[in-house]
Amino acid sequence: MPPSCVNGGGAGSILRLAAVPVCEQEIGLGRENLPVLKLWSARPGEILTAIDPERGCYRVRLTELGENPLGVPFARLSRQIESRLSIEVYQALPEKERFELILQKLTELGAARIVPLETSRSISRSERDATQAKSHRWPDIVLRAAKQCRRAMLPELFKAASFSDTMQLAAGAELKLMLYEGEETWSLSEALGRLRPENVALLVGPEGGFTGIEVAEARAAGFLPVSLGPRILRTETASIAGVTLLQGLLGDLG
Ligand code: SAM
Repeated sequence: MPPSCVNGGGAGSILRLAAVPVCEQEIGLGRENLPVLKLWSARPGEILTAIDPERGCYRVRLTELGENPLGVPFARLSRQIESRLSIEVYQALPEKERFELILQKLTELGAARIVPLETSRSISRSERDATQAKSHRWPDIVLRAAKQCRRAMLPELFKAASFSDTMQLAAGAELKLMLYEGEETWSLSEALGRLRPENVALLVGPEGGFTGIEVAEARAAGFLPVSLGPRILRTETASIAGVTLLQGLLGDLG
């Protein structure tokens, strides 16, 4: 069984308003939103982003968090806060605190899913935790970043996956790209051509790179190797640059 999502992220984490609100008027948020408010560790007085039935995005000040939660929508955002592009990142676990950096930045950049991946040349989650027991903090890093950048949805954060689990988790993606520093690869924009997918899986390798077997396995699973240019980037740079480029070419960055 591939690992599951650990933070309740995804479409189910969106605070949904039952009707188009009038700004500055207190409204009931509905008992159905209680689990969502819990996912966001919401507190009275805190501000979250909510979406109305017409996909309008609002900043809402939470005024009451009991059985019947209340809030005051006070500002309508001029643009959709969540990208049309759903980016799933399968990230080989790096050493030290780099995964925390990746979690924070990919959340800000609008990734929809982040899966830590254990490859032949990457550190495992248990090895990581043996030196720095920090993986329990990962959901909180995602939550804080999502609040800070005003996202309406928490990206899905998964438990660490093996390489073959990853191939299964990414199986449904419309387009699958593997960041690969080998010379015989296309650039990201060449690989996209005229494609305008709404869902892309991005596989990012560890400090030591993918093994030949992993490259072959990923290719067989439909991943297209793509290059980010002539320089060898650190894995966290590659991840952030890859998501930035995808969001710029197909999503809402720029
Ligand atoms: N195997 C390499 C070596 O030791 O020379 C280095 C791997 S690199 C530090 C870590 C990961 O970042 C790679 O597996 C790849 O996914 C991604 N990456 C780094 N630079 C890249 C580039 N120029 N194009 C595409 N992917 C890159």
